[in-house]
Amino acid sequence: SIRVAERVRRIKPSPSTSAAERANQLRREGRSIVNLVVGEPDFDTPLHIRQAAGRAMEAGATRYTSLAGTLELRQAIVAKLARENGLSFDPGEIIATNGAKSAIYSALAATLEPGDEVVIPAPYWVSYPDMVLACDGVPVPVSCPEEQGFKLTPADLDAAITARTRWLILNSPSNPTGATYTAAEYRALAEVLARHPNVLVMTDDIYEHIRFEGGTAPHLLAAAPELRDRTLAINGVSKTYAMTGWRIGWAAGPRSLVQALDTFLSQAAGNCCSISQAAAAAALTGDQGFVAESVAVYRERRDATAAGINAIPGLSCRLPEGAFYLFVNCGALIGRKTPNGGRLATDDDVVMYLLESVGVAVVAGTAYGLSPYFRLSIATSIETLDDGVARIARAVADLT
Ligand code: PLP
Repeated sequence: SIRVAERVRRIKPSPSTSAAERANQLRREGRSIVNLVVGEPDFDTPLHIRQAAGRAMEAGATRYTSLAGTLELRQAIVAKLARENGLSFDPGEIIATNGAKSAIYSALAATLEPGDEVVIPAPYWVSYPDMVLACDGVPVPVSCPEEQGFKLTPADLDAAITARTRWLILNSPSNPTGATYTAAEYRALAEVLARHPNVLVMTDDIYEHIRFEGGTAPHLLAAAPELRDRTLAINGVSKTYAMTGWRIGWAAGPRSLVQALDTFLSQAAGNCCSISQAAAAAALTGDQGFVAESVAVYRERRDATAAGINAIPGLSCRLPEGAFYLFVNCGALIGRKTPNGGRLATDDDVVMYLLESVGVAVVAGTAYGLSPYFRLSIATSIETLDDGVARIARAVADLT
């Protein structure tokens, strides 16, 4: 077979993709599978956004755009940042990318030298460490246990920073825990960062609107404006507007940094899809009713599913403040025995047992850097969730 580069051999495919593939394979074999792995909204993109894409296509928006994105889209992003986050940017400080994922990757590619460290609070989105590795950097996960609300403390941040630290990545609300930083918590982290002026900060704001405690999540830059000249704010339309397939994200930050992403992407990818850019602009400037409606649905599912999980002896989960996942503590199942004599030694074992015994697909905490947990997605129907919880209860009841 073909020898691939060390850069690629260092990284692993997304564990949620592998889990979904295993679940699909079992389903093809005729097993009844409840898939609670999905990381995308189960809603259709709102009609007015799809129509805007159709109009753009008819009007000839079918050519290369400026690399950073159309002025129309960047102005819509500028207006959004002002309106929703109280932040002031101009279009030259914004680059539209092929999803938030591409914004994060290009930022790392444009800044990391071999051996540079990136501080990543754990549990984290699975892609951060692998992206850092692909860019020759060193991921530095910092454990943020449940007792801390799965959040980074100022002391732990201080201890993690070294002379090699290039970035701190913050994701609030978080995938997989939903943990959301308050303005006061951001201030406390900013005080540590004040002592480390060379550390850049990336905020991954992709779940900012999937919030159960009312209103948009606080933004680091609103709480600590002094970080403006070294913070890159990453966001996109995937989760807020159910637009995962359209692939529009962006980065907003200091002009020189955004320019570096522009240079990198001009050779690595080119502009993101012209039609999707028109759709994203329509999403940002048009009627926002969908956001509140979908969050109300997620909230109902969160409450019902968390109550169901917390009623199962041996499982527990805190109520996430945002995003669409439950991060379930399965520590009390470790060491117990399955009906066919196996012993559950890790959360990977728990996840495999749930899949093989009752056909429920979830992702193990190991993938997110904190065990023993599993992540369950609530971006699916309440019937599916009820079925999933009932099956998990049966599987747990069968343990001795
Ligand atoms: N950031 C986090 C924390 C995510 O969970 C995801 C998607 O799963 C992304 C970024 C990627 O979003 P996009 O679809 O815009 O690339």
